[in-house]
Amino acid sequence: MNQFLTRRTFILIPTMSILKIIFNPLQVLASSLASKEEWNFSKDEWKARLSSESYYILREEGTERAFSSQLNNEKRKGIFHCAGCDLPLFSSDKKFDSGTGWPSFWDSIQGSVETKVDFKLIVPRTEYHCSRCGGHQGHVFNDGPLPTGKRYCNNGLALRFVPD
Ligand SMILES: [Zn+2]
Repeated sequence: MNQFLTRRTFILIPTMSILKIIFNPLQVLASSLASKEEWNFSKDEWKARLSSESYYILREEGTERAFSSQLNNEKRKGIFHCAGCDLPLFSSDKKFDSGTGWPSFWDSIQGSVETKVDFKLIVPRTEYHCSRCGGHQGHVFNDGPLPTGKRYCNNGLALRFVPD
């Protein structure tokens, strides 16, 4: 482990959290940019394409109520697609019951999601979003099952399930 890096990160993260509180206490984070030009829609265009609930999750990084999504209990085989652009994000064989009330996966389809750190709850969390349209999906934690140890905690409203 690089000691300098570790120490720097240790100082940097709390400092950034404090700055965030001082300058932007109630800011709603804009969602991530689309990687593909054709998915770079304006706010109004996204509002026209999505339900208001999905818009709030995908484009304003909102979070649905726990246990509110039917996809939390979805047990069939199939693929979970991005509700914004239909890119396949998760396979049912990587889904597990985390008990949190949100659809949870221990791995994503390779290359389908990208991550960034957010400070919405002051403590840094790793946000992830669709790699194509930039739509917010959820947060990824390091307390998931093997083999990855990851827990992708996803909003059901940001997904569309396609059974096999
Ligand atoms: Zn997408």
